[in-house]
Amino acid sequence: MVTITTVDTLQEAAASSGQGSSLLGGGTLLMRGVNYGDQDVSRIVRLRQPTPLAGISSEGERIRLGAFATMATIMKSGDTAFLHPVARAVGGPAIRNMATVGGNIFAPHPYGDFAVALLVLDARLRMSDGSEMDLDRLLPVRDTETRLVESVSALRPAGDDFRFLKVTRVKPRGASVLSIAAWLPRRAGRVSGARVAFGAMAPTPVRVPEVEAALEGVNLDQNGIERALQSVANNLNPPDDSLASGWYRKAVAPVHLGRLLLGQGTR
Ligand SMILES: Cc1cc2nc3c(=O)[nH]c(=O)nc-3n(C[C@H](O)[C@H](O)[C@H](O)COP(=O)(O)OP(=O)(O)OC[C@H]3O[C@@H](n4cnc5c(N)ncnc54)[C@H](O)[C@@H]3O)c2cc1C
Repeated sequence: MVTITTVDTLQEAAASSGQGSSLLGGGTLLMRGVNYGDQDVSRIVRLRQPTPLAGISSEGERIRLGAFATMATIMKSGDTAFLHPVARAVGGPAIRNMATVGGNIFAPHPYGDFAVALLVLDARLRMSDGSEMDLDRLLPVRDTETRLVESVSALRPAGDDFRFLKVTRVKPRGASVLSIAAWLPRRAGRVSGARVAFGAMAPTPVRVPEVEAALEGVNLDQNGIERALQSVANNLNPPDDSLASGWYRKAVAPVHLGRLLLGQGTR
């Protein structure tokens, strides 16, 4: 049997977390799991009033997203225009009305499209205990039991520095065969400090340092990006699932990365 505990603050939620307890975000995955008899969940911890943790605010060159902000909220905010295509890529309208930023960070493969984008935007998490943590440190462990995510701070890109692409088999919004996000700042036309992350190409969204290094100092043309495309297959070992085999994902990832880098396939 699953019990539900209602608390007033995220700190209380964290304190009452433990074996088998899960914080309720939008519930798109958690409640589906419960309805299908997921034995790992014995208690759901919900906030009486999550709205104060659903805000979006500007902080200079960064933007802060409350962990309870939904994809629909992000699509409505002018401050997050660069994230509209990412939020729009998460499920259909009913899912986006419920799906939160915090929940997306913990969504299992092949989900987590929003987290892929956050990874290249240098996302820093503010946790329920007041500590800060980089998203790329949390993703491999996804420790949800002791510290909950309160908000996420991400860089706000300029021009076309930020790009996102999602590949699905079910149009327009099936789960990812793969998704790719890139942050491509340039100096005098050459890439300087690229970040590239993939979704559905590993158990969690991941950055690929070898691809990023191969982009350093190059022009974003076919010659310039060649080495980066070659390094994709050598540095990712994607899982098989019902959507695509790991072999297929590996074969098509360079093609889609090429389109993204050449500005041909973003949405
Ligand atoms: C039909 C369908 C289609 C979908 N399509 C997509 C898609 O295209 N792309 C995609 O990325 N995802 C997709 N998803 C997965 C999911 O909807 C999203 O990933 C969503 O963002 C999860 O957020 P949530 O608030 O609903 O999470 P919940 O279901 O509420 O929670 C998921 C997990 O995250 C934990 N959690 C939630 N918030 C926090 C927090 N603040 N701190 C710590 N832990 C937390 C929960 O305890 C739970 O373990 C889909 C799901 C469904 C059912």
